[in-house]
Amino acid sequence: MKIICIGRNYLEHAKELKNEVPTEPVFFMKPDTALLKDNEAFFYPEHTKDLHHEIEIVLKISKAGKHIEEKFAYKYYDEISVGIDFTARDVQQKCKEKGLPWEKAKAFDGSAPIGKFVSKSRFSDLSDITFHLDVNGQLRQKGNTKDLLFSFDKIISYVSQYVTLKTGDLIYTGTPEGVAAVEVGDKLSCYLQGENLLEFEIR
Ligand code: MG
Repeated sequence: MKIICIGRNYLEHAKELKNEVPTEPVFFMKPDTALLKDNEAFFYPEHTKDLHHEIEIVLKISKAGKHIEEKFAYKYYDEISVGIDFTARDVQQKCKEKGLPWEKAKAFDGSAPIGKFVSKSRFSDLSDITFHLDVNGQLRQKGNTKDLLFSFDKIISYVSQYVTLKTGDLIYTGTPEGVAAVEVGDKLSCYLQGENLLEFEIR
């Protein structure tokens, strides 16, 4: 399986990092070794001194497809969850300055914690779902899918023009504003529409 991540998909987040607002989706990938499941602890990597959380809603692809039309994209995912797109911000900044790829900043082991998946049929309107991250019990980041620059269906359609989607692939759909550093000992709790689906500690 592969992990596809959408960057700069919430306006206020693109602005806080002083990035251009994209006119088409931006995506990158993480390997399967980035996945961190079952609320396992995350070990702070040695290659960064500025590790940031990015809470994101995650789609699980339920059937293979390529060149998927936007109007049919909803048929390609049944379940959603929340996850963290961990980012070594200092490393990413250096990569950006040199025009280099982001893998060292984004794709390292454990950089994609993922929560329990729930059926998307629970939500009457996928374009109005709230999600939030608490760090040590304090609200740190919150978002609503009504602020997405590119909808779930648009993302699936767009990515599948370039990369064949397969069953079990995950798509991290972008983070809202409020990204910040985490420290060893922090406890992160991720919620989708008020329900806690992911909780783990930084060690
Ligand atoms: Mg992200």
